[in-house]
Amino acid sequence: MFDVLVIGGGVIGASVLRELSKYDLKICLLEKESDVCMGASRANSGVVHAGFDAAEGTLKAKFNVEGNLMMEGICKELGVKYKKNGSLVVAFSDEDLNTLQSLKARGEANGVGELEIISAEELRELEPNLSDEAVGALYAKTGGIVCPYELTISLIGNAMDNGAVLYTDFEAVSAKKEKGAFTVTASDGRQVQGKIVVNCAGLYSGKVAEFFGDDSIKIGARKGEYILLDRECAGFVTRTLFFTPTKLGKGVLVLPTVDNNILLGPTAEEMDIPDTETTQEGLNWVIEKAKKMCKNIPFYNTITSFAGIRAYSDRHDFIVEKSPKVEGLINCAGIESPGLTSAPAIAKYVVNGLIGALLPLNKNVEFNPYRRPDYFFKNLTDEEKNQIIKKDPTYGRIICRCEQITEGEIICACTENPRATTVDGVKRRTRAGMGRCQGGFCQPYVAEIIAKCNNLPLTEVTKSGKKSNLLQGVSK
Ligand SMILES: Cc1cc2nc3c(=O)[nH]c(=O)nc-3n(C[C@H](O)[C@H](O)[C@H](O)COP(=O)(O)OP(=O)(O)OC[C@H]3O[C@@H](n4cnc5c(N)ncnc54)[C@H](O)[C@@H]3O)c2cc1C
Repeated sequence: MFDVLVIGGGVIGASVLRELSKYDLKICLLEKESDVCMGASRANSGVVHAGFDAAEGTLKAKFNVEGNLMMEGICKELGVKYKKNGSLVVAFSDEDLNTLQSLKARGEANGVGELEIISAEELRELEPNLSDEAVGALYAKTGGIVCPYELTISLIGNAMDNGAVLYTDFEAVSAKKEKGAFTVTASDGRQVQGKIVVNCAGLYSGKVAEFFGDDSIKIGARKGEYILLDRECAGFVTRTLFFTPTKLGKGVLVLPTVDNNILLGPTAEEMDIPDTETTQEGLNWVIEKAKKMCKNIPFYNTITSFAGIRAYSDRHDFIVEKSPKVEGLINCAGIESPGLTSAPAIAKYVVNGLIGALLPLNKNVEFNPYRRPDYFFKNLTDEEKNQIIKKDPTYGRIICRCEQITEGEIICACTENPRATTVDGVKRRTRAGMGRCQGGFCQPYVAEIIAKCNNLPLTEVTKSGKKSNLLQGVSK
């Protein structure tokens, strides 16, 4: 019997799990996919928003500002890449300039520091590739960027190192409560028991709440498509560039990633049946808008496109509350943007505010907040690398040529918490396959290492779980 079951291994479930692991509790994360971080937390802009966007008094505004302040410290503890690169909301007309004044006032009311309206000249000095049509901007110096999957995986890994249990391929499909405890059943019949359940199921949080007996949550899906440019474009822009929001929407962002790629997007398309396909129409829209923001975008350096799905609620704010219908169920639902930024603050509130009122929270005296960075090897000096290679020659063998990832690092990804069992899982943990050739050279070698580490035949290695097997009909 667990004290707390967390359903959903996205950044919200991951943050709640890690916060829980600071206490002397038996905790377990249930994830329906074969790996963690397969939902919205995998495919988003990675912006640590400053907090001027959400209306004063909303949970979005509160958790955004608090989360922004917490993010740097958490990333330091976990060895996750984070950059306080600053955000610019760019104006292209007098009307936009007026809107910037309201955004600044809203930000100040929300408690955001270091907000400044800057002129076209100052703007061009900061970002020389910005369009000549730009007339000014709101500069938010506290805006940042983070790698969303590195953060999510590290939060879960750190929680597991501190005693949390993870069940993957566990799609929770039903629940019943008896004698003060929930029994949650998976689609394959497995069962697990817990006194409290935290529903962090993203797009499916409405469905999960419903099978617990709470029909109060309605979730909609909105797709966002992106284009990613190669690291060769590093420095094309250094801050996160937003359009000034209008009645027609927010337009696209042009921004660097923490790994020095350039990201363009997202679109915003309502969907009845969620899918993460990219479309010609969506990508053309991104190109058209990005060209309005910046000149000379090196589109020839495009290496991939991808899409993520926002899960929004009909309340148009985050839902972070005790279920009004089921005692012991806590819902974290409708966590659209700025959910990534807000995750640390949401987790603190869920654990200290909501779970603390239901269970005694005694400190886990052995809690270790630190974790070795996923990309530790790359950042070592040649001397340090040679020492490691002498002890373990697998670190001397480069598997991913584009990103210079070694066999040793891939073995680590397959053996350390939370273990990668798929090619995409290795990719998110090591960056093997994230480079210019997008895995064209290294994928077979990565698959072989996964097979070896997990004691699997090569035919059972998948790209991303379920039936995405890489090979068919191979006898070895
Ligand atoms: C296009 C886009 C851009 C965004 N940009 C930003 C940004 O720049 N900054 C920012 O702060 N936020 C941003 N966001 C928002 C942010 O990504 C989300 O708020 C956040 O990732 C939500 O995390 P989550 O854990 O709630 O959901 P998810 O990451 O979707 O996780 C939910 C998990 O639950 C699992 N699950 C579902 N049902 C079950 C079940 N029955 N049993 C077990 N497991 C289940 C899923 O498989 C999934 O892993 C963006 C979102 C999108 C889509």
